[in-house]
Amino acid sequence: MRIGIIGGGFFGYHIAQQVHRLFPGADVEIFEREDRTLMGAGTTNQCRLHMGFHYPRSGYTIYQSIMGFDRFVSDYGEFLHDVTDNLYAVHNDGLVTVDEYMAVMDSFHLPYETVPVTGDLFREPEAIGALLRVPEKSIDVAALRERLGNRFSGTVHVSTRVDDVDAENGYVRSGSDLFGPFDYIVNASYTDLNLGFPEEKHFGVKWEIAALVLAKTSLAPDQAITIMDGPFVSVYPAYGGMHTLSSVAHTPMRRYSDRDDLERDYPRRFELAERAEVGQAIARDVERHLTLTHDPQELWVTAKTKLSTDMGDSRVTEVRRHHRLLSVLCGKIDAVFEASDAILRELR
Ligand SMILES: Cc1cc2nc3c(=O)[nH]c(=O)nc-3n(C[C@H](O)[C@H](O)[C@H](O)COP(=O)(O)OP(=O)(O)OC[C@H]3O[C@@H](n4cnc5c(N)ncnc54)[C@H](O)[C@@H]3O)c2cc1C
Repeated sequence: MRIGIIGGGFFGYHIAQQVHRLFPGADVEIFEREDRTLMGAGTTNQCRLHMGFHYPRSGYTIYQSIMGFDRFVSDYGEFLHDVTDNLYAVHNDGLVTVDEYMAVMDSFHLPYETVPVTGDLFREPEAIGALLRVPEKSIDVAALRERLGNRFSGTVHVSTRVDDVDAENGYVRSGSDLFGPFDYIVNASYTDLNLGFPEEKHFGVKWEIAALVLAKTSLAPDQAITIMDGPFVSVYPAYGGMHTLSSVAHTPMRRYSDRDDLERDYPRRFELAERAEVGQAIARDVERHLTLTHDPQELWVTAKTKLSTDMGDSRVTEVRRHHRLLSVLCGKIDAVFEASDAILRELR
């Protein structure tokens, strides 16, 4: 069995591991366009292992989070931190009402306790209609990156951007280089997921360049605050006692409906972020809502893929097939098992 995987991100490495588990003799090759793997959205993100509290407008996304949570804990538990004071604040002016939010969470039997809203965390405590303490965890993305990279025993082709796929015959092309034939090719590129697919099988997607601030904050390392559901902010534990700061208004710093435009801007994403002072805008938005203090350490800038409909804020994961090519829409980290299960079913 010879498998080619496009994209050396979290999904690509996880799928490679699962292939090796099921087919120990398989020859697995990863193609990564950057000069290092594991530097994309899979390892520079908000570090939240979701249970569903983030998605009051998408029942299917909540379902996928519930399905993925326990398996993630079981397989990647060593990279998880408990967030003992993990607060979701439901804003009175959000896209869903407080009653709607609570009804959705209760309908999925998500576990939480309600806690009183106090003035020491929020600038406008009267704007918060409900405060929930939830048991979602934080992913130590730095440690996860190291383990995935070290454990992979196949071939990694870095600086090898896949430009085209021959799905029928199992070849990938990068510039003038042709690789294959592969029994199967898995596209886990996150942003280039329609490669080699005919028009009628295309995922309808759009893209963003998204920024997060990694910061030292006055919150405890096991404390998180997320304000739902609308143009608000999150402060979530990452690793080394630091938190990521994100803002619904400023984290998506550029939006694209045409992938060529994303490709044009992506290599200069840090320059664009600096010029637009996105890190400062995120920090100011956090300060507008929360009383905590912070000391920014790093700016993370990556590409994000969303369904073009973006209905109900859904972040679903889906696998589609065309001949030997399987392509993954990667919605969220916890859904990696759903994706790899679907792929392994096709490979058996
Ligand atoms: C700002 C932000 C915050 C997020 N926060 C969370 C969160 O808290 N919790 C959660 O569950 N999810 C979160 N997500 C979503 C999550 O990161 C993604 O759903 C998932 O991780 C993406 O899959 P990946 O890890 O494989 O992507 P990536 O890490 O981006 O990997 C894809 C790889 O493919 C490579 N590539 C792309 N095109 C090609 C090509 N043509 N040829 C070769 N290589 C190619 C890229 O360089 C990259 O290395 C967040 C996403 C963003 C952007």
